[in-house]
Amino acid sequence: MFDFWFRASQPVLYGGIFSAILWGVFSATVALLFLSLVLLAVMAYRARQLYKLGVWLNDPRMETIPEADGLWDEVFSRLYRMVKQHKQTKQELADELQHIEQATAALPEGVVILNDANRIEWCNLLAQQHFGLDAEHDFMQDITYLMRQPEFVEYLAASNFSEPLVMVPARHDDMVLSIKLIPYGGDKRLLISRDITQLERIEAMRRDFVANVSHELRTPLTVVNGYVENLQDMPDIAREDAQRALQLMAEQTRRMENLVADLLMLSRLESEHNLLREETVDMASLLDEIYREGMLLSNGRHALRVEVARAINLSGNREELHSAFGNLLSNAIRYTPEGGEILLRWSERSEQPVFSVQDSGIGIAPQHIPRLTERFYRVDRSRSRETGGTGLGLAIVKHIAMRHQAKLEVLSEEGKGSVFSLVFPVGRAVR
Ligand code: ADP
Repeated sequence: MFDFWFRASQPVLYGGIFSAILWGVFSATVALLFLSLVLLAVMAYRARQLYKLGVWLNDPRMETIPEADGLWDEVFSRLYRMVKQHKQTKQELADELQHIEQATAALPEGVVILNDANRIEWCNLLAQQHFGLDAEHDFMQDITYLMRQPEFVEYLAASNFSEPLVMVPARHDDMVLSIKLIPYGGDKRLLISRDITQLERIEAMRRDFVANVSHELRTPLTVVNGYVENLQDMPDIAREDAQRALQLMAEQTRRMENLVADLLMLSRLESEHNLLREETVDMASLLDEIYREGMLLSNGRHALRVEVARAINLSGNREELHSAFGNLLSNAIRYTPEGGEILLRWSERSEQPVFSVQDSGIGIAPQHIPRLTERFYRVDRSRSRETGGTGLGLAIVKHIAMRHQAKLEVLSEEGKGSVFSLVFPVGRAVR
């Protein structure tokens, strides 16, 4: 403190001493004049520094800090350090903010910050996509003006946000959103939106699947039940009638057995833990096996041929390939009227191994082709059932194809016939 006062008063002090000397040598007037001049110079110097400080404070940048000597130099140096520190803190805060913004932008959820009047203070990119917002244009807009759906407005107005709101946004009718409001910081609210379109689709598929399986099982069960009741009610039924009833019951139980076998196969193929066990499959023997099974199924009603254009083997799982090829052949037989021709072909297309089954059967209209591999999708329900179809065959083929990175191609013309091909990747050929 003393040091400060000493340095601050130094010019006046020295001026005073010097003017005292002048008083002794000359006169009091000369000394007073000299002291006044010194004081005037000190005032002018300080006024100039204050002016420079004032100008600089209007636009306080590190590069333009004024230069000075003595005490003023110290003042400016301290200000320089302060501004530098401030700049550094500001930069750190900006980095931190950017960090938080980047983290929020990377969230797999939409985030909107609302004030107590439901006005948008901030939103991330995903929220802009979900609600069709524009971060700049819609800043401080009331979100209920932009999202007018009654259920959304009601949800915001309610005070119980424990359950999320599931809704289809007006601007994206192919999207399902799960929305949750979280109050925070006194009067602010965080609106979180999650795209659950895929989840909803899977849930709908699961519901359909359960309904389909129940429906598929109910029909044969009803038939079997009917016959059992009949047999119970008629103890002295003729032997021939009883035989017939038993035979029909056996047919229905076989149908259920096929369905359960296909369902188990599908669930095994879909299981994440069931990795493909690879081996080199001897195609000549596999084709022969399938051909013989086809002959049994056709029972002489079709002309069945096998054509091996390339003697190559395949790397894959024999059991699964057997099931896929067998399903395609069984379909060709079941959907080709008596007298038709069926050709099993093992060939190559640009070095890609291709298994195909060509038939001269009923064919398929183009609008059905993209949906054939959906579970339980059938073009003609009664024909599929009559021939013992479960509606799962092509779904199984598609799964097996996927596990072997193969593609299922369908070419068909109604009334003329179809070609179902499995095109394998080049790497699966074993030469
Ligand atoms: P399904 O057990 O009913 O045969 P799939 O999944 O094997 O079930 O086949 C689905 C549907 O595709 C069949 O119901 C049938 O309508 C049609 N389909 C499959 N293969 C052929 C074919 N070779 N010719 C004509 N239609 C076929």
